[in-house]
Amino acid sequence: MSKTLQAIRGMNDILPAQTPIWRYLEGTFAELLASYGYSEIRLPIVEYTELFARGIGEGTDVVDKEMYTFLDRNEESLTLRPEGTAGCVRAVLEHGLTGGGQVQKLWYTGPMFRYEKPQKGRYRQFHQIGVEVFNQPGPDVDAELIVLTARLWKRLGMAEAVTLQLNSLGSSEDRARYREALVAYLQQRFDQLDEDSQRRLTTNPLRILDSKNAQTQALLADAPTLADYLDDESRAHFEGLKARLDAVGIAYQINPKLVRGLDYYGRTVFEWVTDKLGAQGTVCAGGRYDGLVGQFGGKPTPGVGFAMGVERLVLLLETLGLVPEALDPAPHAYLCAFGEPAERAALALAERLRDQLPWLRVLVNAGGGSFKSQFKKADKSGARFALILGDNELAARTVGCKPLRDDSEQQNIAWDALPECLATCLEQG
Ligand code: ATP
Ligand code: MG
Repeated sequence: MSKTLQAIRGMNDILPAQTPIWRYLEGTFAELLASYGYSEIRLPIVEYTELFARGIGEGTDVVDKEMYTFLDRNEESLTLRPEGTAGCVRAVLEHGLTGGGQVQKLWYTGPMFRYEKPQKGRYRQFHQIGVEVFNQPGPDVDAELIVLTARLWKRLGMAEAVTLQLNSLGSSEDRARYREALVAYLQQRFDQLDEDSQRRLTTNPLRILDSKNAQTQALLADAPTLADYLDDESRAHFEGLKARLDAVGIAYQINPKLVRGLDYYGRTVFEWVTDKLGAQGTVCAGGRYDGLVGQFGGKPTPGVGFAMGVERLVLLLETLGLVPEALDPAPHAYLCAFGEPAERAALALAERLRDQLPWLRVLVNAGGGSFKSQFKKADKSGARFALILGDNELAARTVGCKPLRDDSEQQNIAWDALPECLATCLEQG
């Protein structure tokens, strides 16, 4: 017997029982973003590998270990996008959307791909909802991004379950000076570092700060901190952000070790984290990347954004019992038909109902069956009414309408009167 085909490890089907939760989350987000004046952009899933190598940076985990890269039939190196920011920057540059200092406030959603070790909350195909703002250099827009995510948590009912962590990475000069100090400090303790951190000491030393290794973390307790290396402008930017968050009453923790995995961040970085999902606790992460557009050959253009992990938010909704009931509502009516002439009439009648009541959810019985079996299916569907069409009803151009959720009597209703009858009954209950 041939082996059953299976999905690729870490790449999940999202089954019908789950899709309503996804739609709910995406719909809530789209509505919220519209209320802040953000527009949707849709971007390709595959890009030239160089885009990510240049944008995200060699020496990062994503580029060095996690990308799905392949040669196409024309021997071009392509990569399944591991994140959305690089592609978004490419698109705005390619279409001149940020020229002349135009402000762009954009959002996108879709699958991302990273070759990681699959586990709860960490997959190889996962989904992000992301936001990017261009040509807004001030801390006001950093604050807006955080404020709108806070509103999202509130709408979803999970505000109590997440906390905000904040840090400033300063300017690239600040980081260069800090890097030197950090490397000097860690070099003297090289033997005590974990293997990954030893390697990073030359490739990407700041990433050592968020090492998961306990001994490395202990070593870092007395290491120089980035906050001491910020120049006046970065310091003022950070203060401006904090003052705005204070003004709207959003609580935050300063986390000096928050450096983010991707290379392009500077100044503001933030993460929303939860302790309800185990190790994969970051549900939203972002920051400012004023240098990135220039790195792609564009005119220097300030940028700031974030991305949320949709799978983690779905898990969190489920874990906290926050999935609203009736996301996937039952049909309003189940149409039973007996005999072929009635079946044909049922199909036409259902279409007429849908013409007149586009919101109506009506299931037409398929596959025939006895009265008993069709009624059983009607009941199981969760419908409010069974509509019954047999030879007698067909001759009289009526349907039997039997309420399934209470004890009221069955009525005969003329086809012409049926839409209005259903509309009235369903509105009342
Ligand atoms: P982590 O430290 O968890 O690996 P990251 O820093 O690599 O996260 P980002 O690149 O900032 O993550 O992505 C933003 C968000 O996307 C994360 O906060 C997380 O919610 C989600 N995310 C990232 N990688 C995965 C993944 N492999 N599976 C599911 N969600 C993910
Ligand atoms: Mg990661």
